Amino acid sequence: MEQPVLEKSVEYVNVVFPLPIRHAFTYLLPAELHASAKIGCRVIAPFGARRLTGFIVGSPDETHLSDLKEIQDVLDPEPVFSPEMLRLAEWVSGYYLCSLGEALKAMLPAALVQASRQYVELIRDHPRQTAAGIEAMSSRQAQILRYLEKAGKMSVSHLKTRIGARSLVCSLNKLEVDGFVQVRQSLTSRSEKPRVELYVALSPNHELACTDALTTLERKAPKQAACVQCLRELGRPVLQKELLRRSGASLQTLKSLREKGLVTFTEKKIFRDYYDFMHDVEPEVIELNEEQRAALEEIEPVLHDHQFETFLLFGVTGSGKTQVYIEAIKKTLAMGKDAIVLVPEISLTPQTVRRFRSHFKDKVAVLHSAMSDGERLDSWRKIKDGRARVVIGPRSAVFAPLRNIGLIVVDEEHEASYKQTDSVPRYNARDVAIVRAKSANAVVVLGSATPSAESFYNTQVKKFRLLELQRRVNDVALPEVRILDMLKEKRLSGKREEPVFSRLLAKKIAEKVERNEQIILLLNRRGFSSYIKCHDCGHVEECEHCNITLTYHLHGRRLRCHYCGFSKRAPEVCAACASADILFRGLGTQKVEEALQSRFPGLRTVRMDLDTTSQKRSHDRILQDFGDGKFDVLLGTQMVAKGLDFSRVTLVGVINADIGMLVPDFRSTERTFQLLTQVAGRAGRKDLTGEVIIQTYTPDSFCLHCAQTHDFIRFFAGEILERRELLYPPFGRLVCIHFRGEDEQEVRRAAAGFATILKSRQGSFQILGPTPSPIERIQNKYRYQILLKADKSRDAGGKKIRQAVEQAQERFGQESRRSGVRVTVDVDPISII
Ligand code: ADP
Ligand code: ZN
Ligand code: ZN
Repeated sequence: MEQPVLEKSVEYVNVVFPLPIRHAFTYLLPAELHASAKIGCRVIAPFGARRLTGFIVGSPDETHLSDLKEIQDVLDPEPVFSPEMLRLAEWVSGYYLCSLGEALKAMLPAALVQASRQYVELIRDHPRQTAAGIEAMSSRQAQILRYLEKAGKMSVSHLKTRIGARSLVCSLNKLEVDGFVQVRQSLTSRSEKPRVELYVALSPNHELACTDALTTLERKAPKQAACVQCLRELGRPVLQKELLRRSGASLQTLKSLREKGLVTFTEKKIFRDYYDFMHDVEPEVIELNEEQRAALEEIEPVLHDHQFETFLLFGVTGSGKTQVYIEAIKKTLAMGKDAIVLVPEISLTPQTVRRFRSHFKDKVAVLHSAMSDGERLDSWRKIKDGRARVVIGPRSAVFAPLRNIGLIVVDEEHEASYKQTDSVPRYNARDVAIVRAKSANAVVVLGSATPSAESFYNTQVKKFRLLELQRRVNDVALPEVRILDMLKEKRLSGKREEPVFSRLLAKKIAEKVERNEQIILLLNRRGFSSYIKCHDCGHVEECEHCNITLTYHLHGRRLRCHYCGFSKRAPEVCAACASADILFRGLGTQKVEEALQSRFPGLRTVRMDLDTTSQKRSHDRILQDFGDGKFDVLLGTQMVAKGLDFSRVTLVGVINADIGMLVPDFRSTERTFQLLTQVAGRAGRKDLTGEVIIQTYTPDSFCLHCAQTHDFIRFFAGEILERRELLYPPFGRLVCIHFRGEDEQEVRRAAAGFATILKSRQGSFQILGPTPSPIERIQNKYRYQILLKADKSRDAGGKKIRQAVEQAQERFGQESRRSGVRVTVDVDPISII
């Protein structure tokens, strides 16, 4: 696509900034920048007392303003945004109610938005550095050259202080293109230095050396022998840290081995090189089975016809979905088009990357949130230059600057992590993928074993096309799943407090440990707040209008629905059985660990939850140690569900299946189903069959039964009925507006004021609230919220509801700033807590 170039005569440009300001600002373009300023370029422009990076998005039709400020500099020789990306940003800003500048910012690597340090250096004796070349320069360029000739290499910021900022970068860019200078990025922060890791490998001639050496070694230096043995078994270079952990050897041991010439060390830059390192792996040769072929045969003609269409590939884990993605990408590349593969952050493991790398070699670019800004910028450049044709990454990869998108894959499309919840724009990458594909006439393949109700519903109304993989590739049997009634267990125990383990689970744990097999115990997400739940009969208080668990607020002892604001006095006794034992207290992983240890002294347990995994990479380490057999039991929150591919795990116990369902959110049942299905679908392997035990106080729950029988279709049928009845997505559209501030009075007043403005524009949507959020206070900030709910059949695109919110925001703007209350808008919230 041609980049629209501004007319030569254009003297004004419209610029947007990554700030919550909806409109563009018009600036005057000084003559020396006329030729460089293109739509989609970054500029430096004065803004109030500051100078900010902004983006050129167009030129004004006419200008009435007389005293316009001037653009100071153009930062890019070529636009960083293509027309396609500008259109996508416009959609994001319109749909998720943020400014265009904020949407554009989200599409760029952070290093391009933050100030970065650059160095500039003169290229001496360059053939083009002739008198004629210098003649053709602007006076500014000549000035820069003359200065550099005297002063030598220096940072751009230093140069700026010496000769002024005006059009400096733009001139440097031109000088660089003409071969007079070289500009190098070196990012400010110290953490931007490439981080390296040390790898250990057997020396190339090890076969010879080792067979002899090993016997001697084993006698003389068993630690060294263990190391060599370990390297041999793995048959690949290993991270030094990993080798030390696996073999139990010390650094000294490794040094001795190096002195003997048995091993070599190599440094690899983390991430970029780490992934590059993997493309020597030969791809697995796999012939698609009948189901996989049938799926591919539906996708292929659509790819060929350059049509937009969304497929939902529905198949259990291990049914071969990834292989279908890979084949579809091959077809895409063969047609000269590019592909994006979105994966949830947690699935972006070396194994996943290695698999794609083995097929697509260095055409793959990986984006990873744990990369440094500099590494991410490198990947971004590789994509932008067309050197990478396949991009793998978490949600932000949907904005990868590929030129000719043919296919976007969204693996595990139901995952909540595709929704950005903590910063603007609060987009859902799955939905952005569909919009991007539509405007590029590309194909989308969504994959999941437990699709979201929204996506599956879309296959029923023929918006998406359903592709099914019903069988697992290697026909591993699904494990036996048992549901245990904990109420019965409690009665039998004769004690007042709830037992942590049922008799069966306790017996099985002992049995497995005896046989040297491993166990995973899953403690469902702990509630965020308190509920009223009867300890005798399991009855839970719900809102009669919203089917949402009522939250117990200590203040005034009230129960509150934070969807609709309904509230009532907390009852003294259970409404179902009149028991007085009704306040629910959550169970933490720590408590379960204590219970395990007091019951099974000597049991080796490891805990994985937010407390133990806050350190970067400790998540991987725990899983690795567990995989190496250092522990009998892995205990944790739903994080452990991702780590179920261990061959010696034969028992998975879910301590409390209900809690997830009690989280006051309309998706909580769906999430519980997804979690339990994942657990139930993964335990066990070919040779050792797995068992799953689910402990619950609601043994008759529909959700649990569907998970037990791995029956998604049945679950969906029930779930969709409820969604329809209460106008939840996909039938209704939700917009959640959050208010936060230090002064509770002000926050409440702000929320009420906002609601009043909305009410004056009401028509096609309901206003629920304002009400205190289920977590009333976080970090000393009080939180209130308003939930808007629209019937999609009356406002299909959501235009009316968004318009109303936008207008309310505008009118409310100044007022909220004065009161110190922050207002954030979340369109299509993934969770309302
Ligand atoms: P999913 O993405 O659905 O979990 P994968 O594509 O990862 O499934 O397949 C699971 C395993 O089966 C992988 O190890 C893969 O290499 C293998 N596999 C996939 N398709 C086939 C096939 N047609 N024949 C043999 N093995 C296959
Ligand atoms: Zn309610
Ligand atoms: Zn009761």
